[in-house]
Amino acid sequence: MADALILGAGPAGLQAVFQLGLAGLTAEVIEARDAPGGLCAAYGDKPVYDMPGFVSVTGAEIASGLVAQAMQLKPIIHYGEKALRWEAGFRLICASGAEYSAPVLVVAGGARFAMDVEPSTCEHSPGLFAIGDAARYLGKTSYLIPAFHEAALMAHRAFAILKGAV
Ligand SMILES: Cc1cc2nc3c(=O)[nH]c(=O)nc-3n(C[C@H](O)[C@H](O)[C@H](O)COP(=O)(O)OP(=O)(O)OC[C@H]3O[C@@H](n4cnc5c(N)ncnc54)[C@H](O)[C@@H]3O)c2cc1C
Repeated sequence: MADALILGAGPAGLQAVFQLGLAGLTAEVIEARDAPGGLCAAYGDKPVYDMPGFVSVTGAEIASGLVAQAMQLKPIIHYGEKALRWEAGFRLICASGAEYSAPVLVVAGGARFAMDVEPSTCEHSPGLFAIGDAARYLGKTSYLIPAFHEAALMAHRAFAILKGAV
């Protein structure tokens, strides 16, 4: 069993794999589509002007960089697996009938993700995180940079939980 189960292989989920890996933690990813990158891959040809370090970079280039960075950490990724709900112990139930679980669950399913995770739910459930567009914080704008920041904060917290430092 991996240290963390990540729902969604979009920018937030991929960055979560990387940040968890930096902290020495392993990840298993559940992705409904047959490829990674989320919305970023979907608008592949569109230039993005607000990525630090790039005057202009396309959605496809960002997605491919995030995938390459995440794959260094050798995550297990299940494509074509749509999560329907989760149960106690962070057990994810998928439409295929498959079930996955881990001591940490990172919800990174994007803004259209059907299972809303309110910030208060996460605050009261150690090991449960919502990051990227799936995190519904009041006044938060849906952009790539907040997703990366939230992934880093999540990994620090997950490390503390799993290594018994809290
Ligand atoms: C047209 C357009 C242009 C944009 N331009 C910019 C820009 O210039 N700069 C910028 O910073 N941001 C931009 N954004 C916003 C940016 O793309 C998003 O903020 C970012 O993609 C959010 O990443 P995420 O991983 O949270 O969600 P997503 O990219 O939505 O990824 C979520 C992933 O979770 C998967 N998933 C969802 N539900 C399930 C389920 N039940 N089971 C399994 N998997 C599931 C999805 O298939 C998807 O792969 C743009 C968005 C759009 C649509």
